[in-house]
Amino acid sequence: MSLTLQEAIIQRHPGYYKCPAHESKSERSRPVRLNVKDGTVLLKDFGGCSTRDILTALGMAWSILFPPRINDPVERHRVQGQREAMEGFSLWRERTLRRVAKALRDRDAARIQLSQYMQDGTISEQTFWDYLGLLVDGYAGLQLDFDVLLRGSGAAALEVYRRQRG
Ligand SMILES: [Zn+2]
Repeated sequence: MSLTLQEAIIQRHPGYYKCPAHESKSERSRPVRLNVKDGTVLLKDFGGCSTRDILTALGMAWSILFPPRINDPVERHRVQGQREAMEGFSLWRERTLRRVAKALRDRDAARIQLSQYMQDGTISEQTFWDYLGLLVDGYAGLQLDFDVLLRGSGAAALEVYRRQRG
């Protein structure tokens, strides 16, 4: 089986890829955003490369952007269902990554605020430790999820998905 576009270019974040057309250019590479809508791949290069530049760099034809034509209606229905599940999963992954990143940032900010409150005497040391315990609880798990969602394989991300749904 031949490679899909997603498999051919290096993923940096879910949905964001390293631009293959920038390899030979001297300026700093900007990411390529890759969206799949109804099986059709839509590319947006933040460095300004055209879709043609990207496909040329990969040695791929325009047809790679479009879903293969399937004549059998049952097979077409099955492929469509699979595609929708994949698109739904990748949306979930991006949304969850943003949510987990925000939860980590919020906890970091709260910890700094808490230390300030203790230092200026707004709260007692006991209160500080009580609240710190709440902020630390589950923090390592959030960090692990963050790393998996950011850089992990699809299978690893699916584990996070199952755990959250289960
Ligand atoms: Zn580019």
